[in-house]
Amino acid sequence: MYLISACLAGMNCKYNGDNNYHEVFEKLVKENKAVPLCPEQVGGLSTPRTPAEIQGGDGLDVIKGKARVVTSEGKDVTCSFLTGAKEALKLARIIGAKKAILKSKSPSCGCCEIYDGSFKGVLKEGMGVTAAYLFQNGIRVIDSDEFLKSK
Ligand code: SF4
Repeated sequence: MYLISACLAGMNCKYNGDNNYHEVFEKLVKENKAVPLCPEQVGGLSTPRTPAEIQGGDGLDVIKGKARVVTSEGKDVTCSFLTGAKEALKLARIIGAKKAILKSKSPSCGCCEIYDGSFKGVLKEGMGVTAAYLFQNGIRVIDSDEFLKSK
């Protein structure tokens, strides 16, 4: 069983009210092989919402209190991102998921790369907050683009 970023299965939970649908991910959910969750929504953020990026590090640094998540308008949303990460781990435990397929490049779900906090579309190495929290707690995190390449 996988935990999966809800936007990959077609839920309109992206910051702009859109999704990142791919039929491969919808099929996993329909076949009861994956359960979708959007950590930013369960962290209490609205949809649509102002985009956010991690400043001062990556998701691992956010967990350590050494970096923060801010919106493009300068609002600190670190607390909501941490709540979403904890809820994601809770759901992973409930459904017995040992693996999570997470949307590339997201400040919550990114597994390898995230935007650098400048809001200029620049990527840097690192994990989003939920990816980092799941990883720290023994869940294997799989980048959605890598998962599709392996299909
Ligand atoms: Fe998708 Fe994750 Fe962003 Fe939610 S937080 S929209 S699940 S990438």
